[in-house]
Amino acid sequence: MIFSVISIHGLVNDLPIMDPFKKSLAQKHRLRMKICRECGARNAPDAVKCRKCRSKNLRWKKRELAR
Ligand SMILES: [Zn+2]
Repeated sequence: MIFSVISIHGLVNDLPIMDPFKKSLAQKHRLRMKICRECGARNAPDAVKCRKCRSKNLRWKKRELAR
């Protein structure tokens, strides 16, 4: 179950979001992610390494829904 959530998150990370349903999903999942300290890339919550620079220097990012 957790894996399907991650795959959705990976999609919306890279594509512009047009579908309102997907958009609400994306906002929900955006509350919890990991940010690379090296390059600032967003990574999946279960990521061990950065998907861009492969650094293991990741930190948790918590984001409230602004709108
Ligand atoms: Zn990185």
